[in-house]
Amino acid sequence: MGLAELDPQQLDTLVAETTGAYRELLERKLSLDLTRGKPSAAQLDLADELLALPGAGRTRSAGGVDVRNYGGQQGLPEIREIFGELLGIGVDQLIAQDNSSLSLMHDSVVWALLHGVPGGGRPWSGQPVKFLCPVPGYDRHFSICAHLGIEMVPVETGPHGPDPDEVARLVAADDTIKGIWVVPTYANPSGAVYDEAVTRALVSMPAAPDFRIFWDNAYALHHLTDTEHPPLDVLGLAAEAGHPDRVLVFASTSKISYAGSGVSFLGASPANLDWFLGHAAKRSIGPDKVNHLRHALYFGDAEGVRRVMRRHRELLEPKFALVSAVLERRLGDLGIASWTTPEGGYFVSLDVLDGTASRVVELAGAAGIALTPAGASYPYGRDPRDRNIRIAPSFPPEPELAAAMEGLTTCVVLAALEQQGAVQR
Ligand code: PMP
Repeated sequence: MGLAELDPQQLDTLVAETTGAYRELLERKLSLDLTRGKPSAAQLDLADELLALPGAGRTRSAGGVDVRNYGGQQGLPEIREIFGELLGIGVDQLIAQDNSSLSLMHDSVVWALLHGVPGGGRPWSGQPVKFLCPVPGYDRHFSICAHLGIEMVPVETGPHGPDPDEVARLVAADDTIKGIWVVPTYANPSGAVYDEAVTRALVSMPAAPDFRIFWDNAYALHHLTDTEHPPLDVLGLAAEAGHPDRVLVFASTSKISYAGSGVSFLGASPANLDWFLGHAAKRSIGPDKVNHLRHALYFGDAEGVRRVMRRHRELLEPKFALVSAVLERRLGDLGIASWTTPEGGYFVSLDVLDGTASRVVELAGAAGIALTPAGASYPYGRDPRDRNIRIAPSFPPEPELAAAMEGLTTCVVLAALEQQGAVQR
């Protein structure tokens, strides 16, 4: 029965239970963290073979390149071949770089601001620049925009991405909109999976030649169920639609091998790759090819990566099941929250009663449960309905995750009771 339908006696019981549970929670003096989508130690352990690779004396790639030396801006072919197959991108259109795909996104935006992009003429800067931001979205994308003075325009996203007609309307109406952030597979934090219709619409809509889709496929291979959504050939679809330069595809092994020492990838049209590599050559004399080689040796081939991802799934699936089970048991009947059940990725997106998300995060923080700040999944940290909370279940061990979820749900109910005036703050 929903909170609104409880009779006075039932409401009294719920108030007594919830305030009692919160008091106990405070007494436990917990120190738990559900903030960031970091792999757990057990997940990192999966890749520890890397610590011994490429191995003493192994200095050359399959093609005879001495990986210790400068050069090879595009990255080692053997790692590009493996990930090209997995991402559905031809090896000629995929480069391998250093450890962070976020830095490739950052640099792409900076270089576009300073120098412009292929086909686009002048630099983005010198005029107002805006980006469309599907929400809820990834806070670090928004931080790049905020840091570089790019105005963010939120667009609501559904289970298959934003409404493409809305995106097309916004882009057509305002030529200072130069980009859109997209996490197409198991989006952070909504779990959305962009379908082919939305993807085709985004690559086909009329837009200025210097408009770019930042297609951040960070979770392309991170399935949690047997429904493994394959990556769409977004570069092929864009080329087919006559806009080969519209899309920049990003990915990395951060949540496949080591989060801090993986390999990043950029997939793009030949013109965009030349553009990127031309600028990259000014800031580095080549990526870390020793890391490329050890990753290629560790994985062996694309099937090797799929094997590793199945091990990750074994570790992650029970944690996501636990989160769903606690949310369902504690909140399922009350009508005060809804949440996603993602088929992959790293997050559960929880919507609580409008106007209570910040209070939930505050109550949880006071009880030693760290949550991502309310509003973090929105540009400028402003969730207009103050209802979204991002849950990152991967890092804590299961007993800690269970304690954090029990505590969090107590806070969700308490904040709702406060808002209804049933509990005084
Ligand atoms: N994109 C998304 C959507 C992410 O969630 C993350 C990690 N939280 C990243 C990029 C970061 O990727 P990398 O480690 O390759 O910089």
